[in-house]
Amino acid sequence: MKSLKEKLEARLIPGENDCLEWTGYRNRDGYGQIQVDGKKLLAHRVAWMLHSGEMPSLLVCHTCDNPRCCNVEHLYVGTHTDNMKDKVDRGRWKGGAKSKVGAVMVLCMREMRSQGLSNRQIGKFLGLSREPVRRFLLGICEVRETSTQP
Ligand SMILES: [Zn+2]
Repeated sequence: MKSLKEKLEARLIPGENDCLEWTGYRNRDGYGQIQVDGKKLLAHRVAWMLHSGEMPSLLVCHTCDNPRCCNVEHLYVGTHTDNMKDKVDRGRWKGGAKSKVGAVMVLCMREMRSQGLSNRQIGKFLGLSREPVRRFLLGICEVRETSTQP
């Protein structure tokens, strides 16, 4: 019987920008899906799990905007988002959705949307209210808001 790692790697091919693209089944958001013990898991999360040795409780986001990519170099967990939230909180983040950090933030938001979170839930996670999240996802936002602590 094949190990999970072998199962994953058998379906990966090198793509552009060092991406490792999942060639198996993909869900409607374009994320690779892998069957493990009858459960459907997202391929990039499995890749992360194999890399880090634990199932991430937080989101696993892509820096490459390629949902089927499973290159762990292109993945990061939600703690990275916390760093960004920190930047936003301290007002060091001046850029809007088009800035580099903004772009990563948008990717993260999209990832969360694809996992079924509402704008309000995403906002809560990032310390923003719903409106900037919505605008961010539309790519029209300049975030000036500071976090309201719960
Ligand atoms: Zn990639």
